[in-house]
Amino acid sequence: MESPRNESNIAPRAARVNDMDAELTGMPTRYQTRLADGRVQCDVCPRHCRLHENQRGLCFVRGRGRDGIELYTWGRSSGFCVDPIEKKPLHHFLPGSAVLSFGTAGCNLACKFCQNWDLSRSRETDTLADAATPPELAATAHGLGCASVAFTYNDPTVFMEYAIDVAGACHDAGVRTVAVTAGYLCPEPRADFFAAMDAANVDLKSFSDDFYRRICGARLGPVLDTLVYLQRETRVWFEITTLLIPGANDSDAELDALTGWIARELGPDVPLHFSAFHPDWKMRDYPPTPAATLTRARDRARQNGLHYVYTGNVRDPGGGSTWCHGCGALLIERDWYELGRWGLTAGGCCAACSARLPGVFAARPGSWGSRRMPVRLHQRAAGAGAL
Ligand code: SF4
Repeated sequence: MESPRNESNIAPRAARVNDMDAELTGMPTRYQTRLADGRVQCDVCPRHCRLHENQRGLCFVRGRGRDGIELYTWGRSSGFCVDPIEKKPLHHFLPGSAVLSFGTAGCNLACKFCQNWDLSRSRETDTLADAATPPELAATAHGLGCASVAFTYNDPTVFMEYAIDVAGACHDAGVRTVAVTAGYLCPEPRADFFAAMDAANVDLKSFSDDFYRRICGARLGPVLDTLVYLQRETRVWFEITTLLIPGANDSDAELDALTGWIARELGPDVPLHFSAFHPDWKMRDYPPTPAATLTRARDRARQNGLHYVYTGNVRDPGGGSTWCHGCGALLIERDWYELGRWGLTAGGCCAACSARLPGVFAARPGSWGSRRMPVRLHQRAAGAGAL
């Protein structure tokens, strides 16, 4: 599918650069086109913001500097936290391991249900109070015993140059990298971005282009393109999350269309997470998702051929655990983010029937548990002990 140009129902909101702290200096970027009318077009995402000098794109963290499009949040963060990898959510990527998570500010979508709107819509530098160079970040993750670093909280598409630099330092330190993203980016930056990632969780917010337009200010096509790209052209381990909003994207017809497409185009082994919505941001008039809706969605997805379907944001040990597709044995028991029984061999196969479980597995489960541990990077002394 072709990526549409400027077809969202939200026009590029060009804000003045000096709305944000002038201390955030811009870093030159690659993905841009000079237009005949003097504007410069950002080519990172299909929004293609066209900017005069001193204007910001819709994401607010990329803007037009003197020489072209610049990124204003390189090296800055809204905070760092050690989480269980299950929280991303990734259920087939080093289960039980700790991941050092961080984000910046800004987003290239405008979801009315955003659960991180304080970061994604932030115009305040207070939210970027922490900072770290890529080597510092990689050393901290390694020192804390984290198996990976996750670019999350806001979409790393908008700070991709920083994420790529951090990923390089992480790989040098033996730490893997995870992107939590809406997958709304153009082909060239997409290839560069995912070349630096070991795993990803991609939000598939709906299977309706109308939903993407009205609720997210984006388009469905480029997201599907990203998913197909990941499956056919990369070795990135990826899982998909769909937040179910009652009355907005949870009809049987839409669930069948979404899950049928995944089974057909990506294959039955791509894990899918159905996550519960909580009223937030501009969609506080919608009710929270009933647990029965998540169970219904999981059942339909499995009927439509998907092998690994999970429920999330609710307590549901059955829907949160991993079951062998070959023999039905319990492979990884989960209660929220806590692991229980472990039915995998050291080689990542079912201990009962030897069927291989798709994913990336260590010989043993991690032991991080459900803890959440905030980390202040600039306060950490070098050489922190492993957890
Ligand atoms: S990354 Fe930001 S500035 Fe670039 S096109 Fe997307 S929203 Fe606009």
